[in-house]
Amino acid sequence: MPDTRLIRTFLEPHHAPLADRARSFALGEVAARPEPPDDDAARVEARALLRLLGVRGWLKPIFNLDLRGCCLVREALGEASPLADAVFALQGLGTTPILLNGSAAQKERWLEPIAEGKLMTAFAMTEPEAGSDVASIATTARRDGAGYILNGSKTLISNAGIADLYAVFATTDRAKGPKGISCFLVPANAPGLRFAGPQVLSAPHPLGEIAFEDCRVPADALLGEEGRGFGIGLAALDRLRPTVAAAACGMAARALTESLAHVKARRQFGKPLAEFQLVQQKLARMATDLAAARLLVYRAAYEKDQGQDRITSEAAMAKSFATEMAQRAVDDAVQLIGGRGVLANHPVDRLYRAVRALRIYEGTTEIQQLIIAGELLR
Ligand SMILES: Cc1cc2nc3c(=O)[nH]c(=O)nc-3n(C[C@H](O)[C@H](O)[C@H](O)COP(=O)(O)OP(=O)(O)OC[C@H]3O[C@@H](n4cnc5c(N)ncnc54)[C@H](O)[C@@H]3O)c2cc1C
Repeated sequence: MPDTRLIRTFLEPHHAPLADRARSFALGEVAARPEPPDDDAARVEARALLRLLGVRGWLKPIFNLDLRGCCLVREALGEASPLADAVFALQGLGTTPILLNGSAAQKERWLEPIAEGKLMTAFAMTEPEAGSDVASIATTARRDGAGYILNGSKTLISNAGIADLYAVFATTDRAKGPKGISCFLVPANAPGLRFAGPQVLSAPHPLGEIAFEDCRVPADALLGEEGRGFGIGLAALDRLRPTVAAAACGMAARALTESLAHVKARRQFGKPLAEFQLVQQKLARMATDLAAARLLVYRAAYEKDQGQDRITSEAAMAKSFATEMAQRAVDDAVQLIGGRGVLANHPVDRLYRAVRALRIYEGTTEIQQLIIAGELLR
């Protein structure tokens, strides 16, 4: 059961009560919602969850730039419902570029409905040929009179097809490489923006492709300055990576809770599974790895909240360690629970399907390791 004692040196006085309230909200109002049976239902549920989060005020830590608060909320949601966690995460990822780089007019126009959960955001960076190598973005934005015309396509975009507003990364000057990438705020109903179709995951998570076909946006859709988009995108990812790690910790905590309940109740060979030392070893490893991951998460978030400009290495360590840890913990939980653990809709089966993507999105484990090594070798 994650509690705040372990991480108390990293927290402010308001964080422990926030964590308690987040947990009771997640367990009381979110956990009981049934897993959507298919992608269409997941899309409807994602919008419903966003509204619930907005109405109950759970999106506020994003807007307060309270990174530790965001981590605490994601831990609680990750434990209760990976879909609810993804909804929170994507609202954070789509909004952070506006919070950090938006003009007064852009903030005035967009932030209130986003905070209320009425308007859903998305972060459109990945392309068919630009995955880990994000600098190779090929979507173009060409100046045309009073605005820009976008052409290209984006793939593996969370909330594609259900978002109202996309933060889109496109090149305004290909010759300049990453320094030629700019960021645009493109409403879903912009002429020439097309939802090209869903990409269906084994876990509920709205994902899909979008295409820009002579998509015209006004000049004030540009976020920050021309050519600063790559930095805007990386800064948002740098900031939010500890929250991915926090969600992983929430999922691992749930895996441990389910495991403990099962091994105490289930008897084989005349005694509870909990009495076998091979079982105890798994439990001990899960608990120790989880504690270590949480310390990395809140160390990174603390540094950011203290005003440190970049937390590149801290965030990469937290993200890579916690997501790999969560994968092992969830796998161990399935193993401890046995055959029932692979039945569809068992809580650990839901976790098993959901946890895998965390090692990939917002930068794969290998990319995090390259970042850490790069900092070491600098
Ligand atoms: C569920 C989910 C949600 C997502 N949501 C979004 C979203 O909202 N917005 C968005 O823009 N993107 C999103 N993505 C895309 C995600 O960011 C990319 O999948 C990720 O960056 C990896 O890119 P890729 O899939 O093209 O893999 P690739 O870059 O092709 O990598 C494939 C493998 O090669 C490895 N690799 C690549 N380069 C190196 C290297 N230099 N050294 C060693 N190994 C390397 C990678 O680690 C990986 O194991 C999402 C992905 C998923 C799965």
